[in-house]
Formats: sequence, structure tokens, C-alpha cells
Amino acid sequence: MGKIPEIKSHISYVRERQLTTVTFNNSFATLPEVFYTKQSAAPAPNPAWIATNTRLASELGIDPAFLSSDAGLAMVSGQKLPQGADPLAIVYAGHQFGGWSPRLGDGRALLLGEVAGYDIQLKGSGRTPYSRGGDGKSAVGPVIREYIVSEAMHALGVPTTRALAAVTTGESVFRETALPGAILTRVASSHVRVGTFQYFYANNDKKALLTLANYVIDRHYPDARKAENPIQALYAAIITGQAKLIALWLKFGFIHGVMNTDNCQIAGETIDYGPCAFMDDFDPMKVFSSIDQQGRYAWGRQPHMAHWNLARLGEALSPIWGTDEDAAVEGIQTTLEAFGTAFNTHFQNAFAQKLGLNTPNTAFQETTFQTMATQSVDFTLFYSHLRRLGTGDHQSQFTALFNDKAAAESWLEQWHATKSENGVAPDESQALMKAANPIYIPRNHRVENAIQAGTAGDYAPMYRLIEVLQNPFEQQKGADDYEDAPKPTEVVQQTFCGT
Ligand code: AMP
Ligand code: MG
Repeated sequence: MGKIPEIKSHISYVRERQLTTVTFNNSFATLPEVFYTKQSAAPAPNPAWIATNTRLASELGIDPAFLSSDAGLAMVSGQKLPQGADPLAIVYAGHQFGGWSPRLGDGRALLLGEVAGYDIQLKGSGRTPYSRGGDGKSAVGPVIREYIVSEAMHALGVPTTRALAAVTTGESVFRETALPGAILTRVASSHVRVGTFQYFYANNDKKALLTLANYVIDRHYPDARKAENPIQALYAAIITGQAKLIALWLKFGFIHGVMNTDNCQIAGETIDYGPCAFMDDFDPMKVFSSIDQQGRYAWGRQPHMAHWNLARLGEALSPIWGTDEDAAVEGIQTTLEAFGTAFNTHFQNAFAQKLGLNTPNTAFQETTFQTMATQSVDFTLFYSHLRRLGTGDHQSQFTALFNDKAAAESWLEQWHATKSENGVAPDESQALMKAANPIYIPRNHRVENAIQAGTAGDYAPMYRLIEVLQNPFEQQKGADDYEDAPKPTEVVQQTFCGT
């Protein structure tokens, strides 16, 4: 294949007008019009704050005082955008639960532009040409969920989109009942998805595919340009990012719930906190989402499904691979093989760390999973008590997690033996576990509680939860309740997209 034409001009073409304190660049808006539709936000009759993330604002170079001002509220409710913001809805396609949808796109979201290289997007801001039957709006519940969980994921060290602000619109949206309407301001490295590539692949638009690949290389993977085959290097880099990401999801018991190709982001960030959940009792086939009847996106199936999504991406890249079709197919398959190895390395290392081992022991890991599953052990407490075994009454609390005390004692014996065999120094072992085993995760019942209170206009539980989850690895005074597994009456069995 010939040299990929540079699209640096797109990136550096900065439509930049200083206004108050936010300056938007719009690299996406400089792409050809087949990529998006310009669209403004729906009116919001009475915008009001739910939350602002002043820490993230500072990281982006946005003046927190501006963000919290009336002008900031007008911006994040889509009512009065700073000049230079150029709102648009991006088109994409995707496989949803394995079924092909030829045109999805931002049906309830608008990209305002970029600040400090990050996309600033309003989610819930009204209809777009991609809304299909939907109203383009969000209810307050999913906005609160995404705010809490995405910020918690960030604090856990998992690549993710972020939440800059959340507001109510003053309008009701109708789901099963009337609910307060809300808008989340999402921040992401970009909003390009596997489904964005699939859209142009399905439309036989080779030119747009190449433009998109170049855009992604320039924006996320500039090293790929130096490779002999930049498309292959781009694909390899995306594969590496997904392998790392999914291993982190598993490490913390996270279940995304809707790993469709349109929710698989090219920059390797977790995106779309719909029916996501963290598992309580360990069960590799655990599913929460009400729509995932077959368990397609169960905790333990996530690596498999990421691999499937990446195979779809490979297909979509085939027309621009730069070789004849047979060679492209072979090149794509060979490149994709790296996923399994990369994922396994991250996964084994992460779970070794969680046990305070400096090298993985696959046989003992297998035993551990088996024991956790048969004993219905709470995943997070298992590891967080383990890291604190020598202190307080964590030994008895650890044992109490098991159905059967003898099984706990037998497992602990094997664990001590494995650590000796591993030769890890006690201090190092402790440090490994402290860094890998959070004490606080966004427990489903806590998130649900924050959503219910927030829907009734009381955001205090949401604020407190956000505060605790900012330091998930540090024991916090007065936060014991946030550590606890749900009582039987509090267990969340199912989550809903709520869209
Ligand atoms: P999701 O399952 O949240 O990733 O969304 C899948 C597709 O449905 C995307 O194209 C969304 O933009 C669209 N969508 C979800 N909710 C709505 C809504 N309330 N109005 C319009 N489109 C929506
Ligand atoms: Mg989505």
C-alpha cells in the first residue's frame, strides 16, 4: 500500500476562539461530513446542578470557577455554548449482542469539541439524526450511575471516560414512569469506536476508512505511522489496549454488561456505563444486565467478547490493510493472535498481585477461583481482608466469607505455602496486595441507593459515595459501611440500561 496521506492538517486545524475560560478545538469537525451531523442541543427549561468535577476541570485547564458558574451551567446543559464549540453527532454502526445494526450513531449525545485534546460530550442533550425511536434524553438515574462509576474506575486506575458535570434539565423524561431529565458531560480521549470503522466498512467507503485510520493514528497512536504497515501497527496497538483494559475489568470484578462493538472504544478506555455492575459473590458467569439473557457479556466471558470485537475491527480494516485480500486476512489473523497472550499476561500478573505473589502461579490461581466460586465468597472482601489479615479481626472476617470454615483454613494454608514457594518478601507481598486490592468499589446497592435518592432530588448519598471512591485503596475512617457486601435484602440482582 502507498504511504498513508498525512491528516495532520486536520488535527492542527484549530477552530479556536477564546471565550470566557473554555477554548474548544474541533479536530473531528474538520473530518469530511460523512462522519457526523451538526446538531444543536434541545432546550432545557430549567437547568440545575447535580455535580461538577472541579478536579477534572483543573486537569483539563478549565477554570473550576467558570465550570461552576451560570455560564458553565449554560454550557453543560447545552443551552449557551462558548463560541468555538461546534456541536455534532457522530455516526457509527455496530454489532449489538452479535446482531448487526448498520447505523447507530450518537442518538442522545453531542460532541462539543475538544479541550486539552479530550472530547467534551453532552450525553442526554436531545434528539439527533441517529436517535431512531429514542427521545435523545437521559433520565437522572443513568447519569448518576455513569458519574459515580466512571470516576470510581478512574480512581482504581482503569482507563475510562470521565465525568465533568451532571445537571438536571428541568424536564421530565418518560421511561416506565416520568423521571427527571439529566445531562452528563462526558470526557474521553475520543469517541471513535470499533463501530465507527464498521460503519464505513459496511458502506464500502474505503476513502473514509483511510481518513478515520489516519485520524486515529495521529490522535492516539502516532508511533504507528513509523511502522512498515501503519494500519497493522494501529490494529496491534488497539489490541494491546483492549487486552490491558479487559484484564483490569476482571481484576476489580467489573462487568461492563453491554460490550457491543459500538461500545468498544478505540483509545482503550471503558465507555458506556449502562447496565454495568461490580460482582459481589464470585461467579465467573455472573451477569447483571436485564437484556443479557444468554450471559454473552458475563464477567469471565469479557476477554472472549473483546477478542470477538477486535476480529470485527480487523474485518473493517481489511480494505485498507494495503495488501491483496488473502494476505490481509492472514495479516489480520496473525496480528489478532497477540490478544490472547497479552490478555493472559496482564490477567495472570494482576491476579498474582492480588494474592501478594510476584510471579503468577496458574495452578494455585485455578484453585483460588474454584474455592471462591464453590464457597460463594465476596470477591472484593476476599482480597481486601487478605491484604489486612495480620491486623484487627480481618482473619475471622476473611474466614467468615466462606460457607465452610474448614475450606477457608485449607485455602489459607495453601496460600502461605504458595507464598513461601514464590519467595516473595513479606513487605513486597503486602505492597503488591495493597496496590491491587481495593477496599471500596462502587457496590451495586450503594449506587442504586445514590440513584434512588438522586431521583428524589437528594444528592447527598451520591456525593458521599463519590468521595469514598476517590481513594479506593486507602482505609477511611467512618467509611466501614461502604466496604460491606449487601445484606440479603440489599442485593442488586439486575441492572437496566435505563435509556
Ligand atoms: P447504548 O446501548 O447506550 O450504547 O446505545 C446504543 C444506541 O442507542 C446508540 O446509538 C445510542 O445513541 C442510542 N440510544 C440510546 N438511548 C437513546 C435515547 N434515549 N434516545 C436516542 N438514542 C438512544
Ligand atoms: Mg453506546
